[in-house]
Amino acid sequence: MSAAEVTVASGREVSTDPTPALEATGLTQHFRVRGRAGRARSRNRRGRPVVHAVDDVSIKLWAGRVTAVVGESGSGKSTLARILARMITPSSGRLWLDGRATPLSAGRGARAYRNKVQLILQDPFSSLNPIHSVRYQLSRPLRIHKMVGSEELDDALESLLERVKLTPPSQYLDKLPHELSGGQLQRVAIARCLAVEPRVLLADEPVSMLDVSIRLGILNLLEELCHAESLAVLYVTHDLASARYLATDVLVMYAGQVVESGPAAAVVDTPAHPYTQLLLSAAADPEREGPAELTTSGGAPPSLIDPPAGCRFHPRCPHAMPICAIANPPMLDVSPDQRAACWLHVDPADRPKVSEGAKA
Ligand code: SF4
Repeated sequence: MSAAEVTVASGREVSTDPTPALEATGLTQHFRVRGRAGRARSRNRRGRPVVHAVDDVSIKLWAGRVTAVVGESGSGKSTLARILARMITPSSGRLWLDGRATPLSAGRGARAYRNKVQLILQDPFSSLNPIHSVRYQLSRPLRIHKMVGSEELDDALESLLERVKLTPPSQYLDKLPHELSGGQLQRVAIARCLAVEPRVLLADEPVSMLDVSIRLGILNLLEELCHAESLAVLYVTHDLASARYLATDVLVMYAGQVVESGPAAAVVDTPAHPYTQLLLSAAADPEREGPAELTTSGGAPPSLIDPPAGCRFHPRCPHAMPICAIANPPMLDVSPDQRAACWLHVDPADRPKVSEGAKA
């Protein structure tokens, strides 16, 4: 599949900055498999078995816009976020921060990069040190990165808590993590990210561990920070409905590949790929009477050690054709802004010819 790019905006207010805050092309991450699981499986160029976690993914994140990456467990969306945070070194790909080419390695040089690109983790309970107060957790990045002098520290701490709507700040500064709710902890974790004045926030399922009643508050906070502080935000989620609510653009990932991309409204309201249609049909809908109609022929997500040939979704796709099991579909424009990788969008006369005996 050719690389997918999100370069279009929906009806939301968007940045006119011609340069993406963060851009990556051709990101590929193949993890080596050790032990018995790796025998007789797909192998990398050195003949070693690998997990195809992310394959040829390209993405652009813009200041003042939220881009959502949506997919089920194992689709590669969290691995993508960690590659963009330079927490893991991918097998291949290229990266630009504010238009400047940047190494992708997780090693030396990554610390200065992470000042600009901060990762918000899924679990706020484990992302903060349980034995230190909020004051300590927020002071540390301010001091280490010399963001303020000691005489300005108290004002900076109060300002951070006000930016994440924990007010009055004096009520929270000396609390320990166990004295805060999950939503308050996630706000402190976001404040800690803001301490180093980042350009990009990578939010890896930031509300999935929180009570339903407080999720909306965190999503609204991310949207407000994105617009008010001109941050580029990546929102990783398995929930298309929340992506529609929060994001300007959406990428849908399946088995390590991008299968659809475009403005959030278009992808959610008129999905072009059968997998996106499956995600939508499986989403909770209070207005639907009776059980959800799953647009799938059944089956489970494929093995990423030995992914299916052709379209990786073909074993589960109700529209699968013989060509789907043989050739990977190209990413195609299905509307001016929306793209999908599916043979259904290729004129039958233009599809590769398949021999009579081939089956879907
Ligand atoms: Fe289904 Fe074929 Fe489209 Fe894949 S390419 S989503 S198998 S119709």
